[in-house]
Amino acid sequence: MKQYDCIVPGCDWKTHTEEEAEIVRRASEHMRQAHEEASIRPNMVEQIKAHIRDEDAQSA
Ligand SMILES: [Zn+2]
Repeated sequence: MKQYDCIVPGCDWKTHTEEEAEIVRRASEHMRQAHEEASIRPNMVEQIKAHIRDEDAQSA
């Protein structure tokens, strides 16, 4: 399971899924709806991916 917290400071939106691609999809949708990003730039996808954490790592 992968965990993701919104990259925007002060925003406490978070999600978790099995698939990294699904996190990118949900995060992109959240950016449009909550932060009024009209288009998701390629570097934003990279930022999102860099922010994804493996939930399993916490229990180690
Ligand atoms: Zn957010």
